[in-house]
Amino acid sequence: MDVNQTQRFIFDQSDIRGELVKLNSSYQLAIAGHSYQPPLAKLLGEFIAASVLLSSTLKFDGLLSLQLRCDGPVSLLMAECNSQQQLRAIARGELPAEELGFAELFAGGSMAITIEPRNGQRYQGIVPLQGENLASCLEAYFSQSEQLPTRLWLAADEGSCAGFLLQQLPLQESESAEQGEQVWGHLTQLANTMKAEEMLGLPAEELLHRLYHQETVRLFDAKPIAFSCTCSRERTERALITLDQQELEEILAEQGEIAMDCQFCGTVYRYKASELRGLLAGRSPSRPH
Ligand SMILES: [Zn+2]
Repeated sequence: MDVNQTQRFIFDQSDIRGELVKLNSSYQLAIAGHSYQPPLAKLLGEFIAASVLLSSTLKFDGLLSLQLRCDGPVSLLMAECNSQQQLRAIARGELPAEELGFAELFAGGSMAITIEPRNGQRYQGIVPLQGENLASCLEAYFSQSEQLPTRLWLAADEGSCAGFLLQQLPLQESESAEQGEQVWGHLTQLANTMKAEEMLGLPAEELLHRLYHQETVRLFDAKPIAFSCTCSRERTERALITLDQQELEEILAEQGEIAMDCQFCGTVYRYKASELRGLLAGRSPSRPH
Protein backbone atom coordinates (compact mmCIF):
# COMPACT_ATOMS: atom_id res chain seq x y z
CA MET A 1 0.00 0.00 0.00
CA ASP A 2 1.23 3.48 -0.84
CA VAL A 3 0.98 5.55 2.35
CA ASN A 4 2.36 9.10 2.56
CA GLN A 5 1.14 10.74 5.70
CA THR A 6 1.77 12.10 9.14
CA GLN A 7 -0.59 11.49 12.01
CA ARG A 8 -0.79 12.91 15.48
CA PHE A 9 -1.88 10.94 18.54
CA ILE A 10 -2.37 11.55 22.24
CA PHE A 11 -2.82 9.35 25.27
CA ASP A 12 -5.85 9.96 27.47
CA GLN A 13 -5.15 11.28 30.96
CA SER A 14 -1.54 11.96 30.23
CA ASP A 15 0.59 14.87 29.03
CA ILE A 16 2.23 13.01 26.21
CA ARG A 17 1.67 13.43 22.55
CA GLY A 18 2.99 11.58 19.57
CA GLU A 19 3.42 11.86 15.84
CA LEU A 20 3.78 9.03 13.39
CA VAL A 21 4.97 9.54 9.84
CA LYS A 22 5.07 6.98 7.09
CA LEU A 23 6.16 7.59 3.51
CA ASN A 24 6.33 5.38 0.46
CA SER A 25 6.11 6.98 -3.00
CA SER A 26 6.93 10.51 -1.78
CA TYR A 27 10.22 9.12 -0.40
CA GLN A 28 10.85 7.09 -3.56
CA LEU A 29 10.33 10.21 -5.70
CA ALA A 30 12.66 12.24 -3.48
CA ILE A 31 15.52 9.77 -3.98
CA ALA A 32 14.75 8.86 -7.61
CA GLY A 33 17.25 9.85 -10.28
CA HIS A 34 20.14 10.36 -7.85
CA SER A 35 21.64 6.84 -7.92
CA TYR A 36 22.32 6.93 -4.20
CA GLN A 37 24.02 3.94 -2.62
CA PRO A 38 21.22 2.04 -0.84
CA PRO A 39 22.56 2.74 2.70
CA LEU A 40 22.89 6.45 1.83
CA ALA A 41 19.32 6.50 0.51
CA LYS A 42 18.21 4.97 3.83
CA LEU A 43 20.08 7.61 5.78
CA LEU A 44 18.39 10.26 3.67
CA GLY A 45 15.07 8.50 4.28
CA GLU A 46 15.59 8.96 8.02
CA PHE A 47 16.36 12.62 7.41
CA ILE A 48 13.15 12.96 5.41
CA ALA A 49 11.05 11.25 8.09
CA ALA A 50 12.68 13.45 10.75
CA SER A 51 12.01 16.64 8.79
CA VAL A 52 8.32 15.74 8.56
CA LEU A 53 8.15 14.95 12.29
CA LEU A 54 9.86 18.23 13.16
CA SER A 55 7.72 20.24 10.81
CA SER A 56 4.55 18.73 12.31
CA THR A 57 5.74 19.12 15.90
CA LEU A 58 7.20 22.65 15.79
CA LYS A 59 4.09 24.43 14.62
CA PHE A 60 4.67 27.24 12.14
CA ASP A 61 3.60 28.38 8.70
CA GLY A 62 6.53 28.08 6.35
CA LEU A 63 9.49 25.87 5.55
CA LEU A 64 11.61 23.67 7.79
CA SER A 65 14.92 22.27 6.68
CA LEU A 66 17.22 19.84 8.37
CA GLN A 67 20.73 20.07 7.06
CA LEU A 68 23.97 18.28 7.87
CA ARG A 69 27.24 19.48 6.34
CA CYS A 70 30.56 17.78 6.76
CA ASP A 71 34.03 17.60 5.21
CA GLY A 72 33.85 13.80 5.21
CA PRO A 73 32.89 11.47 2.34
CA VAL A 74 29.22 12.43 2.68
CA SER A 75 29.31 16.22 2.53
CA LEU A 76 25.62 17.03 2.64
CA LEU A 77 22.36 15.54 3.84
CA MET A 78 19.35 17.77 3.61
CA ALA A 79 15.61 17.35 3.87
CA GLU A 80 12.94 20.02 3.71
CA CYS A 81 9.28 19.91 4.65
CA ASN A 82 6.88 22.84 4.53
CA SER A 83 3.59 23.44 6.29
CA GLN A 84 1.72 22.29 3.17
CA GLN A 85 3.41 18.93 3.86
CA GLN A 86 5.55 19.02 0.73
CA LEU A 87 9.01 17.55 0.98
CA ARG A 88 12.24 17.33 -0.96
CA ALA A 89 15.71 16.11 -0.04
CA ILE A 90 19.25 15.69 -1.26
CA ALA A 91 22.46 13.88 -0.28
CA ARG A 92 25.94 14.56 -1.68
CA GLY A 93 28.92 12.28 -1.50
CA GLU A 94 29.43 8.57 -1.08
CA LEU A 95 29.61 6.30 1.89
CA PRO A 96 33.05 4.76 2.34
CA ALA A 97 33.50 1.00 1.93
CA GLU A 98 34.15 0.52 5.64
CA GLU A 99 31.06 0.76 7.75
CA LEU A 100 31.17 3.82 10.00
CA GLY A 101 28.77 4.80 12.75
CA PHE A 102 26.83 8.07 12.46
CA ALA A 103 29.17 9.91 14.84
CA GLU A 104 32.33 8.73 13.03
CA LEU A 105 30.93 9.38 9.58
CA PHE A 106 30.00 12.96 10.41
CA ALA A 107 32.78 13.80 12.85
CA GLY A 108 33.57 17.51 12.64
CA GLY A 109 30.36 18.25 10.74
CA SER A 110 27.49 20.49 11.72
CA MET A 111 23.76 19.98 11.67
CA ALA A 112 21.15 22.68 11.76
CA ILE A 113 17.39 23.04 11.78
CA THR A 114 16.25 26.12 9.90
CA ILE A 115 12.74 27.46 10.04
CA GLU A 116 11.66 30.08 7.52
CA PRO A 117 8.20 31.29 8.43
CA ARG A 118 6.14 32.72 5.60
CA ASN A 119 5.87 35.90 7.64
CA GLY A 120 8.51 36.57 10.22
CA GLN A 121 12.05 35.98 11.23
CA ARG A 122 14.17 33.08 10.01
CA TYR A 123 15.30 30.87 12.88
CA GLN A 124 18.23 28.49 12.97
CA GLY A 125 18.97 26.00 15.73
CA ILE A 126 22.14 23.96 15.95
CA VAL A 127 21.74 20.25 16.53
CA PRO A 128 24.57 18.69 18.53
CA LEU A 129 26.26 15.93 16.53
CA GLN A 130 27.15 13.79 19.51
CA GLY A 131 24.51 11.10 19.39
CA GLU A 132 25.02 7.65 17.99
CA ASN A 133 22.37 8.28 15.33
CA LEU A 134 20.15 11.02 13.91
CA ALA A 135 17.34 10.33 16.39
CA SER A 136 19.54 10.78 19.46
CA CYS A 137 21.06 14.01 18.06
CA LEU A 138 17.56 15.41 17.57
CA GLU A 139 16.54 14.33 21.06
CA ALA A 140 19.43 16.38 22.44
CA TYR A 141 18.26 19.33 20.34
CA PHE A 142 14.75 19.14 21.80
CA SER A 143 15.97 18.94 25.36
CA GLN A 144 18.15 22.03 24.82
CA SER A 145 15.91 24.24 22.76
CA GLU A 146 12.35 23.21 23.47
CA GLN A 147 12.97 22.00 27.01
CA LEU A 148 10.44 19.28 26.35
CA PRO A 149 11.59 15.69 26.78
CA THR A 150 11.25 14.17 23.33
CA ARG A 151 12.12 10.76 21.91
CA LEU A 152 12.35 9.83 18.26
CA TRP A 153 12.55 6.56 16.38
CA LEU A 154 13.44 6.59 12.69
CA ALA A 155 13.56 3.82 10.11
CA ALA A 156 14.01 3.49 6.37
CA ASP A 157 14.47 0.80 3.78
CA GLU A 158 14.63 0.99 0.00
CA GLY A 159 10.97 1.81 -0.57
CA SER A 160 9.71 3.41 2.61
CA CYS A 161 10.69 5.53 5.57
CA ALA A 162 9.00 6.12 8.89
CA GLY A 163 9.34 8.18 12.03
CA PHE A 164 7.78 8.01 15.46
CA LEU A 165 7.94 10.79 18.04
CA LEU A 166 6.84 11.02 21.65
CA GLN A 167 6.92 14.31 23.51
CA GLN A 168 6.21 15.12 27.11
CA LEU A 169 4.19 18.32 27.41
CA PRO A 170 3.99 20.58 30.47
CA LEU A 171 1.99 18.79 33.15
CA GLN A 172 -1.78 19.33 33.14
CA GLU A 173 -3.48 15.97 33.19
CA SER A 174 -1.01 14.09 35.37
CA GLU A 175 -1.79 13.81 39.08
CA SER A 176 1.78 14.67 40.02
CA ALA A 177 5.19 15.20 38.44
CA GLU A 178 6.14 11.76 39.65
CA GLN A 179 3.14 10.12 38.02
CA GLY A 180 3.87 12.09 34.82
CA GLU A 181 7.43 10.75 34.80
CA GLN A 182 6.24 7.24 35.40
CA VAL A 183 3.85 7.34 32.44
CA TRP A 184 6.57 8.86 30.24
CA GLY A 185 8.99 6.10 31.23
CA HIS A 186 6.39 3.44 30.54
CA LEU A 187 5.31 4.76 27.13
CA THR A 188 8.85 5.36 25.86
CA GLN A 189 9.93 1.93 27.06
CA LEU A 190 7.15 0.32 25.06
CA ALA A 191 8.16 2.35 22.00
CA ASN A 192 11.71 1.03 22.43
CA THR A 193 10.40 -2.45 21.68
CA MET A 194 9.32 -1.32 18.19
CA LYS A 195 11.18 -2.93 15.32
CA ALA A 196 12.06 -1.12 12.08
CA GLU A 197 9.91 -3.60 10.09
CA GLU A 198 6.91 -2.76 12.27
CA MET A 199 7.40 0.98 11.83
CA LEU A 200 7.75 0.59 8.07
CA GLY A 201 5.15 -2.11 7.50
CA LEU A 202 2.26 -1.72 9.91
CA PRO A 203 -0.65 0.70 9.49
CA ALA A 204 -0.68 3.40 12.19
CA GLU A 205 -3.65 1.95 14.09
CA GLU A 206 -2.09 -1.47 14.19
CA LEU A 207 1.32 -0.24 15.29
CA LEU A 208 -0.20 1.83 18.09
CA HIS A 209 -2.41 -1.04 19.13
CA ARG A 210 0.53 -3.40 19.23
CA LEU A 211 2.49 -1.01 21.45
CA TYR A 212 -0.24 0.55 23.53
CA HIS A 213 -3.24 -1.77 23.72
CA GLN A 214 -3.48 -1.10 27.44
CA GLU A 215 -3.71 2.67 26.97
CA THR A 216 -6.41 4.81 25.44
CA VAL A 217 -4.78 6.33 22.38
CA ARG A 218 -6.55 8.95 20.32
CA LEU A 219 -5.35 9.04 16.74
CA PHE A 220 -6.10 12.21 14.76
CA ASP A 221 -6.80 12.47 11.05
CA ALA A 222 -3.80 11.77 8.85
CA LYS A 223 -2.33 14.67 6.91
CA PRO A 224 -1.08 13.76 3.42
CA ILE A 225 2.58 14.32 2.53
CA ALA A 226 3.83 14.72 -1.02
CA PHE A 227 7.14 15.06 -2.78
CA SER A 228 7.19 18.45 -4.44
CA CYS A 229 10.12 20.52 -5.48
CA THR A 230 9.83 24.25 -4.86
CA CYS A 231 12.18 25.17 -7.69
CA SER A 232 10.84 27.42 -10.47
CA ARG A 233 12.06 29.37 -13.45
CA GLU A 234 11.60 32.58 -11.50
CA ARG A 235 13.72 31.37 -8.57
CA THR A 236 16.38 30.11 -10.92
CA GLU A 237 16.49 33.53 -12.58
CA ARG A 238 16.98 35.19 -9.23
CA ALA A 239 19.97 32.94 -8.58
CA LEU A 240 21.28 33.39 -12.10
CA ILE A 241 21.51 37.18 -11.97
CA THR A 242 23.70 37.02 -8.88
CA LEU A 243 26.38 35.11 -10.80
CA ASP A 244 29.43 36.70 -12.36
CA GLN A 245 28.54 38.23 -15.73
CA GLN A 246 31.92 37.49 -17.26
CA GLU A 247 31.61 33.82 -16.42
CA LEU A 248 28.08 33.66 -17.79
CA GLU A 249 29.24 35.23 -21.07
CA GLU A 250 32.01 32.63 -21.30
CA ILE A 251 29.59 29.75 -20.83
CA LEU A 252 27.26 31.29 -23.42
CA ALA A 253 30.10 31.62 -25.93
CA GLU A 254 31.10 28.02 -25.34
CA GLN A 255 27.72 26.29 -25.06
CA GLY A 256 25.28 28.67 -26.70
CA GLU A 257 23.03 28.67 -23.64
CA ILE A 258 23.07 28.59 -19.88
CA ALA A 259 21.59 25.47 -18.32
CA MET A 260 20.80 25.51 -14.62
CA ASP A 261 19.72 22.20 -13.06
CA CYS A 262 17.77 21.88 -9.87
CA GLN A 263 19.88 19.74 -7.57
CA PHE A 264 16.78 18.34 -5.88
CA CYS A 265 14.53 17.23 -8.74
CA GLY A 266 16.81 17.41 -11.78
CA THR A 267 14.68 19.91 -13.74
CA VAL A 268 16.88 21.84 -16.17
CA TYR A 269 16.18 25.52 -16.76
CA ARG A 270 17.72 26.79 -20.01
CA TYR A 271 18.52 30.36 -21.00
CA LYS A 272 19.48 31.64 -24.45
CA ALA A 273 21.82 34.59 -24.86
CA SER A 274 19.04 37.10 -25.61
CA GLU A 275 17.04 36.00 -22.61
CA LEU A 276 20.04 36.14 -20.33
CA ARG A 277 20.95 39.65 -21.49
CA GLY A 278 17.40 40.76 -20.77
CA LEU A 279 17.66 39.35 -17.25
CA LEU A 280 21.04 40.92 -16.61
CA ALA A 281 19.84 44.28 -17.91
CA GLY A 282 16.95 43.98 -15.46
CA ARG A 283 19.26 43.84 -12.48
CA SER A 284 20.63 47.32 -13.15
CA PRO A 285 19.99 49.46 -10.06
CA SER A 286 18.45 52.24 -12.14
CA ARG A 287 15.51 50.02 -12.93
CA PRO A 288 12.71 50.08 -10.37
CA HIS A 289 11.70 46.69 -8.90
ZN1 LIG B 1 13.50 21.19 -8.39
